[in-house]
Amino acid sequence: MKRAGTDGGDPFTRERSRALAARKLLPWVVASGAGAAALVKVAGATWGGAAGFFGAGLLAAVFVWTLSIARCPFCGRPLPRPGAARAASRGARGCERCSGASGDAARAERS
Ligand SMILES: [Zn+2]
Repeated sequence: MKRAGTDGGDPFTRERSRALAARKLLPWVVASGAGAAALVKVAGATWGGAAGFFGAGLLAAVFVWTLSIARCPFCGRPLPRPGAARAASRGARGCERCSGASGDAARAERS
């Protein structure tokens, strides 16, 4: 693993870039799951056999999808996306660190 340095060492930035990488991976996982099921069916398997492959692909997709959600490294709550930070963070506010990091507006309101 490369030592953090390009991201400035901010745990939130690192978590977001990790989640983004997982999100980019997601279509490939879905496609390979569906592709594997199609191949198995073409190869002469029953629909049940193909569905088994598709189910495995679906499980992998769900797993990658959970990885694609950026979470607060301190309290584990999902981080709001940078674009929609303000509206989303009002309802479910995380710990002191991620509520502060998710929007400067929230910090300004309190002070
Ligand atoms: Zn937090």
